[in-house]
Amino acid sequence: MLPRLPDFVDPWRLADSRRRLRASIPLARFPRLAEILVSNDGEAVCTLGFYRDGQRRTRVDVEVRALLQLQCQRCMEPVPVEVDARATLAVVEGNDEAGYLPDEVDPLMVDAGRLRPLDLVEDEILLALPQVPMHPAGACTVRIESMPPEEATPDKAGEAQAHPFASLSALKLRDV
Ligand SMILES: [Zn+2]
Repeated sequence: MLPRLPDFVDPWRLADSRRRLRASIPLARFPRLAEILVSNDGEAVCTLGFYRDGQRRTRVDVEVRALLQLQCQRCMEPVPVEVDARATLAVVEGNDEAGYLPDEVDPLMVDAGRLRPLDLVEDEILLALPQVPMHPAGACTVRIESMPPEEATPDKAGEAQAHPFASLSALKLRDV
């Protein structure tokens, strides 16, 4: 069992001492994630590595792994989704500071000098989720009712040939 994350950390101090936090977090502790999970069971395992880069910027390497149960958007049954998210962020205190970052460096906005690691981990999980979670093609547990086109097409064509004036007579009936 890994230790719990502290509620708040000072990212600059952790960066100065090159601290690495490793923790496992029950999925039930992520309120935004809970809204889209089919089940709260399980946990996310994360590593947050703090350091200063060559420009003396405060950086955080984030790694998060979790196995989530989402709802398949095709059959509406649970679908397991594995998250393995990685990000390297630069800690900034406002938009001005974020503006100085090179394009390839993503900012991590920190308010009032303290960072809530739980929010950061939840953000990274949410960013890593598929837009439309689905089982692989053909793997849905519930069969979707739809006629395969190779069966449906000849039937329709045959009907049209057998009753060439069916639609015409329907029109006539409506006229009367
Ligand atoms: Zn499905």
